[in-house]
Amino acid sequence: MSKTFMPKIRTERELKRTQLEGLQWTVNHVYKNSEFYQNKFDEAGVKPNHIKSLKDISKLPFTTSKDLQEGYPFPLRSVPFEKIVRIHASSGTTGKRKVLCYTQKDINDWANMFARCYEMAGLTTKDRVQVAVGYGVWTAGVGFQLGVERLGAMAIPIGPGNIDMQCQFLEDFQSTVLCSTASMGILMAEEVEKRGLRQKIALKKLIMGSERSSDAQRKKMKELLGVDHVFDIPGLTELYGPGTGLDCIYHEGIHYWADYYILEILNPETLQPVPPGEIGEMVITTLRKEAAPLVRYRTRDLTKLIPKRCSCGSILPMHDRLLGRSDDMFIIRAVNIYPGQIDHILSNTKGVGSEYQIHLDRKEDGKDYMTIKVERTERGNPAEDPAIAKGLEEEIKKQILVSGKVEIVDYGALPRSERKSKRVFDNRGI
Ligand code: ZN
Repeated sequence: MSKTFMPKIRTERELKRTQLEGLQWTVNHVYKNSEFYQNKFDEAGVKPNHIKSLKDISKLPFTTSKDLQEGYPFPLRSVPFEKIVRIHASSGTTGKRKVLCYTQKDINDWANMFARCYEMAGLTTKDRVQVAVGYGVWTAGVGFQLGVERLGAMAIPIGPGNIDMQCQFLEDFQSTVLCSTASMGILMAEEVEKRGLRQKIALKKLIMGSERSSDAQRKKMKELLGVDHVFDIPGLTELYGPGTGLDCIYHEGIHYWADYYILEILNPETLQPVPPGEIGEMVITTLRKEAAPLVRYRTRDLTKLIPKRCSCGSILPMHDRLLGRSDDMFIIRAVNIYPGQIDHILSNTKGVGSEYQIHLDRKEDGKDYMTIKVERTERGNPAEDPAIAKGLEEEIKKQILVSGKVEIVDYGALPRSERKSKRVFDNRGI
């Protein structure tokens, strides 16, 4: 049998024991080696030896992106500089960038986690992986490549954009896997269709990172590219980078690497756990990270746990796809809405495509209005627009409890992006 990157854990009890050991190691490590964490723990009146069970995690203080900004340029650092072999940073302006340090062990752990993603997606050493995400100080390109090499497959590093070269590589190198953002995946699917390349390429799988892909986007990519699977890979610079989980071929949820980190799903307002299966903010505590460990780090990403064992039988638990960021959540007429809810309704409606925009306006009557612009499908009939729009408006009212006007626009009318597409346009001023 070939090498596996899956954990050698067979039961929930073993997994919990691994988590407790990791948690205790982490709290001791940060308390001893990081002034930042020591101060935080002291303020909260908690000592490492108070952590006797997994439940005791609730005694620990939270860490936020503000802490990372205030600690710039080397926040959360818990090892001496001579042990740091690399840094990565998120995009953003100086002082706002989140910078994270890595020891050699951190890099090795990340490579193993990423190789595990590819293994979960069914890749082997025979696969050829076209890495069409950004290379640079951020974690994307180098992370995807690290994982390919750790697995032993062939990496084809190209970066985002450059559609002509992407198409040429797909054809000439017979890439079997494409890693990109969902927006870029859509762009590629449309190009392959337009250029009539479908029969000349060997693509079998897509791995979509950095932004949420919708059901409609995945369906379109599968149809136009003729691939068997589209996977979602979550990723956060603060938590190594992309590669910390993946849905398996059953696509029942995203398996996450619970032997490397603890995931809590908390109500963003009360910071108490939500019942299993309900939406909340992902809060992460790392179990082995040396250089910049996370203790109850508030990611602002919204998701829910999927409280069941996957059909694949893996012991690794699952969370849902990311449903947006708690920061992206907007309030209209006193209702909290995140774009993923709108996306979900559009994805389940025939006659409209995957591209949409949400516009928020305040009119002279002082009230807020929401307009959703969505593209008709490529071969859709404009005569059906009014009926489809009306159906969508009713569905939105029923599911989200807010009225919105739906405008159906021509296929291709909304801008395509190689990076993340902007969905919400809030024109209400302050
Ligand atoms: Zn599974």
